[in-house]
Amino acid sequence: MNANLPVDKIRPLQSVARFDYETDVLVCGYGGAGAAAALEAALAGAQVLVLERASAGGGATAMSSCEMYLGGSGGTALQKATGFEDSTENMAAYLREALGPLGDDERIRCYAEGAAAHFDWAESLGVPYKRAAFLERTVVPLTDESLLFTGNEKSHPFNRVAAPVPRGHVPSREGDEGGQLFMNAIMARVSEAGAEVLADTRLLALLRDEQGAICGAVAKRENREICIRAHRGVVLTTGGFVMNQEMTRQYLPEINQYAVPYGSSNDIGDGIVLGLAAGGQVINMDQAFLSFPLYPPAKLTYGVLLNARGERYINEDAYLARLAWYSCQQPGQKFYLLVQEEDYAASDYLERAPVVATGDTIAEVAAEAPFPAGKLEQTVSYFNQYAAQGEDPLFHKAAEWLKPLSKPPYALVEYSANEMRAVIVPGSAGPLMFTLGGLKTRTTGEVLDVSDRPIPGLYAAGRATAGLPRSGKGYASGMSVGDATFFGRRAGQAVAARSI
Ligand SMILES: Cc1cc2nc3c(=O)[nH]c(=O)nc-3n(C[C@H](O)[C@H](O)[C@H](O)COP(=O)(O)OP(=O)(O)OC[C@H]3O[C@@H](n4cnc5c(N)ncnc54)[C@H](O)[C@@H]3O)c2cc1C
Repeated sequence: MNANLPVDKIRPLQSVARFDYETDVLVCGYGGAGAAAALEAALAGAQVLVLERASAGGGATAMSSCEMYLGGSGGTALQKATGFEDSTENMAAYLREALGPLGDDERIRCYAEGAAAHFDWAESLGVPYKRAAFLERTVVPLTDESLLFTGNEKSHPFNRVAAPVPRGHVPSREGDEGGQLFMNAIMARVSEAGAEVLADTRLLALLRDEQGAICGAVAKRENREICIRAHRGVVLTTGGFVMNQEMTRQYLPEINQYAVPYGSSNDIGDGIVLGLAAGGQVINMDQAFLSFPLYPPAKLTYGVLLNARGERYINEDAYLARLAWYSCQQPGQKFYLLVQEEDYAASDYLERAPVVATGDTIAEVAAEAPFPAGKLEQTVSYFNQYAAQGEDPLFHKAAEWLKPLSKPPYALVEYSANEMRAVIVPGSAGPLMFTLGGLKTRTTGEVLDVSDRPIPGLYAAGRATAGLPRSGKGYASGMSVGDATFFGRRAGQAVAARSI
């Protein structure tokens, strides 16, 4: 794959002798964010042209389950129909806790206020959502329910600041095809709205006028450069940069050594690089989603996760992204699950994780385990003492997942990051990663320069930006597609309304 863009990434408008296309709005990248931006701009009456490097639209959004993290406003229509209430304050409180100091308060507020209506919008596109919830601990329901918990809502410390409510909204279809269902529906609406799409066309450079506004682009199509004039502006929706080794080495040097890139092959950061060249600011570039899908089966949650010192380091009922983040903070990225026979099963997602020690007593397991002498016995004895009372003073694992490890035999399973990488099963094992950093934008999608001033005519959304999800350890599934489509729509509305 050629990751290099030309040297002259920003070209003067005057350098173009003839335009191959003229449009009001140029959208670059036809995944979730791009489709949402194109649709809103076209519905607002703008002439819209979309460029897509691949042979068809979809991007990582089509590969995804299309879980969208939605709630607030008393509850989405789906939450309400399944008996859940969710105030905007409750959702915002959860998001603030999840994103911590990296979170953007204005964006959180904007999203929490609009997320329930965003669900209505997604459904209005023709995406099917069944009024049914799947409430077991899982990654994605393989049956046809549409609502599930996709974050840390029920676990510490989140259950102390916000009432737990399921917010993962996933298109209804048996299997895991939500992303394709969503993209098929929205691409049909984009085409009905009159937007033109040029596939097999790679954005190469941006055009800037004498006043400093972005006013078009140069792209490569059928092996030649084409020039496009965009009178109202350009929206960058080219996705993240997880497939660009140079960038992941630069911005995520540690994670890059053990995590497996997860995304579309065109996630090489073209929009981010061009936005930077236009004077844009990038933020949050050192943050990534990581995945440790230990469960399902949910009963593995009764076990205890241990690092190479034989110490617990997290409440095991945390969400898979948080499990991954904390696990990868452990020395050597080595981590183990100690589980008793009645709760043991192979993880659905992490195949071939090796059992490294077994025993009818904890001492027998300890004799085979790679921990300092006496440590496993001490850790388990302390855990058992409190688990018997439904307590976990160290990490506050919820009482529903607490029981003493007292029914032998026991097994110690190794899930070290490098082991996972070595045994990766395509599309299933971890730790997988995608990037959470990119161009800094306003909630309208306007790209900001290093002085936080908007660059006229330049907009962005989705993983080309630092959007709503900014932290791997607080990530909830659905935050990325939810963010990309929600703020993609806002960028489309804003660019269409730009006065020229
Ligand atoms: C298997 C999988 C499952 C996932 N499941 C979920 C989930 O359920 N919920 C969730 O929130 N997140 C999920 N994610 C993450 C999520 O899918 C992405 O982060 C999100 O869809 C990104 O949307 P986007 O519009 O920014 O980018 P994309 O959907 O990737 O769209 C970007 C588009 O831009 C195109 N492009 C790139 N460069 C150029 C260029 N120079 N010129 C023209 N076109 C270009 C690409 O080909 C692509 O079509 C998942 C990711 C994967 C890989």
